[in-house]
Amino acid sequence: MLTPALEAELKAAIRTIPDYPKPGIMFRDITTLLGNPRAFRRAIDELVHPWAGGKIDKIAGIEARGFIIGGAVAHQLSAGFVPIRKKGKLPHTTVRVAYSLEYGIDEMEMHEDAVAKGERVIVVDDLIATGGTAEGAVTLLRQMGAEVAAACFMVDLPELGGAEKLRKLGVPVRTLVSFEGH
Ligand code: AMP
Repeated sequence: MLTPALEAELKAAIRTIPDYPKPGIMFRDITTLLGNPRAFRRAIDELVHPWAGGKIDKIAGIEARGFIIGGAVAHQLSAGFVPIRKKGKLPHTTVRVAYSLEYGIDEMEMHEDAVAKGERVIVVDDLIATGGTAEGAVTLLRQMGAEVAAACFMVDLPELGGAEKLRKLGVPVRTLVSFEGH
């Protein structure tokens, strides 16, 4: 658990942009947190805390902000990094899964040799909302025989139920701060 003071500090470091990218959405912009040296460092330290000293083989970061956070987490845990990307962006042979967005579906991909059977992997993204994106990543990793040890996000939007959805899939979820609404 974070101290209330640290949670407040991290929350204050995240900028909210109302009605972006469309009316009714409160966009939680973590670039301000990334640009704040102390907040960035403390957020990464807190995210990795439960696994410090444990055996994690790979961090799977979801495009694009999950690459920034996931890279830092991988370094801290001495783990490898695996990019999960929108379709058509990875150069080698890929495995692909469809995932649900707020309106419609899209597809994400991972290199077929990015994880080995039995490897322990943590999924990382900046924010979890409905959980559709993270669920897609979990499906891909499990399809390749990886063990999804956890999923980590800086921001949770609990009213959208994504973290709960992942927990029901048997994935432990770690989030740092929560915001009400969408
Ligand atoms: P979901 O699949 O619904 O959990 O959506 C999560 C993905 O959409 C993450 O990659 C987020 O970066 C992005 N996202 C969804 N809602 C927001 C929001 N309110 N502010 C910032 N990013 C969001």
